[in-house]
Amino acid sequence: MSNKMRVMQVTSPNAPFELVERPIPEPTAGTVRIRVEACGICHSDSFTKEGSFPGIQYPRVPGHEVAGVIDKLGDGVLGWQPGQRVGIGWHGGHCRVCDSCRRGDFITCRNAQIPGISYDGGYADYMLAPVEALARVPDELSAVEVGPLMCAGITTYNALRNSHARPGDVVAVIGIGGLGHLAIQFAAKMGFKVIAIARGKDKESLAKELGAHQYIDSQTQDPKKELMKSGGAQVALSTVTNTKAISSVIEGLAVNGTLIILGIGKEPIEVSSLALIGARRSIMGWPSGTAMDSQDTLSFSAQTGVRSMNEVFPLEKAAEAYDRMMSGKARFRVVLVPSLAH
Ligand SMILES: [Zn+2]
Ligand SMILES: [Zn+2]
Repeated sequence: MSNKMRVMQVTSPNAPFELVERPIPEPTAGTVRIRVEACGICHSDSFTKEGSFPGIQYPRVPGHEVAGVIDKLGDGVLGWQPGQRVGIGWHGGHCRVCDSCRRGDFITCRNAQIPGISYDGGYADYMLAPVEALARVPDELSAVEVGPLMCAGITTYNALRNSHARPGDVVAVIGIGGLGHLAIQFAAKMGFKVIAIARGKDKESLAKELGAHQYIDSQTQDPKKELMKSGGAQVALSTVTNTKAISSVIEGLAVNGTLIILGIGKEPIEVSSLALIGARRSIMGWPSGTAMDSQDTLSFSAQTGVRSMNEVFPLEKAAEAYDRMMSGKARFRVVLVPSLAH
């Protein structure tokens, strides 16, 4: 094995991606070295590309939708072996000493580590990750399938399974993109009555193939009226950034219904106080989940057949792949595979 690896780094905010060689790093205490087999490109990689997340040190290698194989253990690592398949997502490590950590709520750790932001991520042949960031990968899933499940997958799956909706309840999914096309599948497999909401008639057949029981075209139909025909949604999962689309469903929530925000829009969301108070409705956000939540996401996906639809690119084409994802034209997730180039 050569002692060099390739990484796709960003040297400063808004600088172009740059493919460079670096020495393969040695795992430090409490970390493992991972040979990257696939890394999904997430919209949140723009934090690193554009420098819009506080405290990023450059050069930085993005990537927090990683699937790979443990290659070497650092000192003090227990419970993991070289050769094991692992996934690494947004939850890239926690401090164990802040109040959230002391309560066991690791995803809200005040000193949370994020791969590709706090340390170098998966746009690379190899990376290091702390053991608490590792999820086990079931045999049924390929590396390309695992990548997007480590962020887009876990975020939708974990938000749904921790919501108050119960099997048979109406769950609305707003948007059919990278997150939405997974949310529809998860919600259907969990036994909810799934109503997908998107713009235009052309997405209806795909929504139904993914498991939606009903489709609302927000260009020609009023989402809140259509939702109320089914008694209102117990949960509406927003995967879009268009705040008007989000506001339009609040009055389509059932009594005690909750709107869960997953997509990060730049504009504030407008909401009528009366609409919230009268029917005891609420709005909340949801941060993905821990490595163990990711592991549950992978198990559930292996068991039920939930998969993202992916476009695959070699590592050298990360810039093109990133633009493809940011353009919103990809169907639906974009995944880098380092070995494609070999
Ligand atoms: Zn992400
Ligand atoms: Zn902490």
